[in-house]
Amino acid sequence: MTASIISGKEVAASLRNEMKQEVNELKDLITPGLAVILVGDNPASRSYVKGKEKASAEVGIHSELTEMPADISEHSLLTKVEEYNQNPAIHGILVQLPLPDHISEKKVIEQISPEKDVDGFHPINIGRMMTGQDAFLPCTPFGILQMLKYKNIETEGKHAVVIGRSNIVGKPIGQLLLNENATVTYCHSRTNDLQNYTLQADIIIAATGKAEFITKDHVKEGAVVIDVGMNRKEDGKLCGDVAFEEVQEKASYLTPVPGGVGPMTITMLLYNTLQSAKAFIKRDNQ
Ligand code: NDP
Repeated sequence: MTASIISGKEVAASLRNEMKQEVNELKDLITPGLAVILVGDNPASRSYVKGKEKASAEVGIHSELTEMPADISEHSLLTKVEEYNQNPAIHGILVQLPLPDHISEKKVIEQISPEKDVDGFHPINIGRMMTGQDAFLPCTPFGILQMLKYKNIETEGKHAVVIGRSNIVGKPIGQLLLNENATVTYCHSRTNDLQNYTLQADIIIAATGKAEFITKDHVKEGAVVIDVGMNRKEDGKLCGDVAFEEVQEKASYLTPVPGGVGPMTITMLLYNTLQSAKAFIKRDNQ
């Protein structure tokens, strides 16, 4: 079997087109606004932030960037977040992680109003997601769900094996798949005999941050394989957590890196910002 490739670029373009139209239809009522706060000068963070600004502009979302030096105090950052909480032109707030060591990420995330937490990292949104309530869903897992839906890949009754249990990817994608009626197994670095689980999987979500770690020997014939990893090889090239070429021979569907999950993450951030703006209109009219 040769896997069908799920192009995140294609799914993202289709969603962004729909959003662009919706933003245009809403233009007399509201312009969705996204505030991005970047602390310090991490080149990877800077490049993610640039990508977010560019994508916002493409869809018609107003975005504004606040840059703060790496030695900014925690208090100043919390104050800036609070300003955006109060700013009616802003519907989504994103603080680019990681933050310098002297600032508590937990405090900063909890400072963001849950109604503007378009990254879906606030414990209130995580709790809402866990209990199946309306919530901002974390962008990477939400994007994976959209890719599966775009390809009409059935999740109900399927065995999904998630490799990785981070708060931003592993845990929430497992929860979302559970909400979609999959049977979910979590694996992590302390899992004994990983292959024993992955070989039973109808859907594998690889989110380990280990370059080409998942090989054909981990994959059942016909499984759907979603590669979340973004790793640099020694030659500087980007690669995923999955050994793409060999797994392609066994999987039914496979996401590439780059051009897979990555473009979906930003797209869902825009989606959440648009949903937030719509919720603000609704609240204003109540
Ligand atoms: P973390 O480092 O926070 O988590 C990695 C997880 O993988 C941990 O739960 C760890 O287990 C597990 N793990 C590590 N080694 C093994 C192993 N040998 N066997 C089984 N499990 C293992 O990473 P993130 O979740 O933040 O990110 C994962 C990957 O996804 C990274 O490559 C990251 O760059 C990428 N990413 C991509 C995004 C995108 O938009 N495409 C967005 C976010 C992340 P344990 O908990 O026991 O340590």
